[in-house]
Amino acid sequence: MVTVTRIEALEMGMTSAEKQRAFRERARDAGLCIVCGKNDPRPGLTTCEPCDTAAKGRIYSARDRVKKQTRKKSKATKKRKAPNK
Ligand SMILES: [Zn+2]
Repeated sequence: MVTVTRIEALEMGMTSAEKQRAFRERARDAGLCIVCGKNDPRPGLTTCEPCDTAAKGRIYSARDRVKKQTRKKSKATKKRKAPNK
């Protein structure tokens, strides 16, 4: 199995965005996941199952954070509008 390491993408004088782009290009050319560069991607896609699961987890927790923040805000607004209730 061919693996692309992140160190291979570390070329001098490149911004981190350029390094990341180069890393993804190499991983894609090697037929590997563009996130980790280790596993085989799912058929027809460019990322592997563990990377997709991790990304979903980040999205869910971000949504949860926003929801909690909204709930907190609405509670504070109710209290301000009717302080004796
Ligand atoms: Zn991956």
